[in-house]
Amino acid sequence: MKNGHLSSWAKNVAPSPTLAVDAKAKALKAAGEDVCGFGAGEPDFDTPSFIKEACGQALTDGKTKYAPAAGIPALRDALAKKYLEKGVLNEKNPSQVVLSPGGKYSCYMAILATCGHGDEVIIPAPYWVSYPEMVKLAGAKPRIVFAGDNQGFKVTPAQIEEVITPASRMIILNSPSNPTGSLYSRKEMEAIVELACSHDLLIMSDEIYEYLLYDNAEHFSPASFSAEAADRVITVSGFSKTFSMTGWRLGTLVANPEISKAVADLQSQTTSNATTFAQFGALAAMENWDLSMKAVQGMLLHFDRRRLKLLQGLNAIAGMSCQRSEGAFYLFPNISSYGLSSEEFSARLLEKEKVAVVSGHAFGAEGYIRLSYATSDEVIESGLTRIQRFCTNLD
Ligand SMILES: *Cc1c(COP(=O)(O)O)cnc(C)c1O
Repeated sequence: MKNGHLSSWAKNVAPSPTLAVDAKAKALKAAGEDVCGFGAGEPDFDTPSFIKEACGQALTDGKTKYAPAAGIPALRDALAKKYLEKGVLNEKNPSQVVLSPGGKYSCYMAILATCGHGDEVIIPAPYWVSYPEMVKLAGAKPRIVFAGDNQGFKVTPAQIEEVITPASRMIILNSPSNPTGSLYSRKEMEAIVELACSHDLLIMSDEIYEYLLYDNAEHFSPASFSAEAADRVITVSGFSKTFSMTGWRLGTLVANPEISKAVADLQSQTTSNATTFAQFGALAAMENWDLSMKAVQGMLLHFDRRRLKLLQGLNAIAGMSCQRSEGAFYLFPNISSYGLSSEEFSARLLEKEKVAVVSGHAFGAEGYIRLSYATSDEVIESGLTRIQRFCTNLD
């Protein structure tokens, strides 16, 4: 073909580097290599069995047909109840809740429904790899604001204000954060919401790690701060991380009625409903909340132990410094003292020691690497030994 087969969208999109690292590690493993994988962005536990059983029952009962594009009514209702309790909704209005095939898709819909050509979207870095690509796919422009470990990986309102222009449309927040595990306090979050209000900006709040918290940390939904905040915040979450349901593909979005309807309409033309019987599994998770939270506490016990083990081990390596995470299941150590780019560091680490980590470059943070501690204690122990050896041999 003279003009090529691909659109400008397809030509310019970068493939997900986190999925790529994970695929490479899995391929090496399949080839018989002894790989320590810290690349995975998913819990290493199975979905709690009562959730799987509810899904199995739904299949048996013939819940195998299309559902409404925005989700089955009972699940939207259960989620509306949760968000009313969190203060994200000020009345129980299930029509403001939209289910999708994954939190990733909900993020994309939030951006696509509200941002377009000529708009700028402010993205704090280190960021989740997909945000800038999604913004570009919507025809809008990402504006990156960087916060390093010296400021706890959290941007200040002053930093955001500096990049606000008349074209600014939205700020993306992700707390707890992938890749850093940092968590905004209520006060820090309130200051950013105030700024968004005064400059008439939307906020997309990606709360996919809302229940994965350590050290008694507390998560705050910016939409719960005021009626004005609720009007301009789009709250995204999902079942993947909390309930170890990554393969189920179930995301959630809560927004004002106008945006929710637009998102439901966009979904009705691009994907239709999230898998019907999967939604019945999620419904069981919502309707048996005590059981669900017990399962989450069980996972957190393991995550927390591994977090502290990995944190201590990384900080014991000369030249490496790592901030304590407060949520999610990632650590994001600073490796800039070794004089290698993040890409080189992670490529050589995989080649020499068969340790898979993700380069900070992928998250807009040169000089860092991301390690997921959603992996076994044995992998963490062996991985630490190898990383230490690798770093020692560098100088
Ligand atoms: C994993 C993740 C998501 C969404 O995951 P899904 O599996 O699509 O629900 C969204 N945001 C962040 C920051 C994530 O890490």
